[in-house]
Amino acid sequence: MTRTVLTLLIVMHFTGVSIAQRTHNCSYGINGGWKIKSPDGRSLDVEEIISKQKDDTGIPEIVRRSLEAVSKRMNLRLMVYVGQNNAEAWMYPSGERLLLVDVGFCSRVNEMCDTRWAAISIIAHELGHHISNFRGDAHQRELSADYWSGYILQKLGASERSATAAMSIIGSDYDSETHPNKRRRIAQIRKGYADALSDG
Ligand SMILES: [Zn+2]
Repeated sequence: MTRTVLTLLIVMHFTGVSIAQRTHNCSYGINGGWKIKSPDGRSLDVEEIISKQKDDTGIPEIVRRSLEAVSKRMNLRLMVYVGQNNAEAWMYPSGERLLLVDVGFCSRVNEMCDTRWAAISIIAHELGHHISNFRGDAHQRELSADYWSGYILQKLGASERSATAAMSIIGSDYDSETHPNKRRRIAQIRKGYADALSDG
C-alpha cells in the first residue's frame, strides 16, 4: 500500500481563515455550526488541546487511516478544535488543503446517531472533497464526497448501516441549492461502500 504522508498541524493560535482566498469549502455543522472565534477573538479551546502536548481525540489517526484506505498521499493541514461545532474542508487557489474538525461536534453526532462511525463518516466525507478535488457543480461535489465516505468506511470496517447512519439521521429529505437530498446521498455512500467491497 502506498505510504501515506499526512502533514499534521494542530494550530495553537487560530487567527481566522481568510474568506477572500477561499476557493472551495464544505461545512457540516449542527445547531448553528461553525463559530470561528470565541467572543474575545481567540480560540482558547485550541490551546487547551495543545497544552496536553499530544492528541487524545483520535481524529488525526482517523484521518491517517482514511487516507491509507484510499492509498492517497495528500499534503493536508488538519486542525482539531473544541467548541466550534463543525467539520469543514477547504481548498485554496494555492492548492493548500485544510481539514477542520471539532471534537465536541464528533461526540454530539455520534450520540445523535448512536454509533461512533457517524463522526468518522463525516470526516471521511470532508476528506472525500479533497480526494475528488471539489470537482463538478455543488451537487456533484457533495455526491462525490459521499461516495468516498462510503468507500472509506467499508475499508475501515464499518457496516453499511453504520456508514449511512449519519446521513440517514442528519441529512435533509429535500434538495437544497448546495446539497442533494439524503436519498440520493445515501445511494452514493452505498455505491462507494460496494466498490470498496469489490476492490477487496
Ligand atoms: Zn460536503
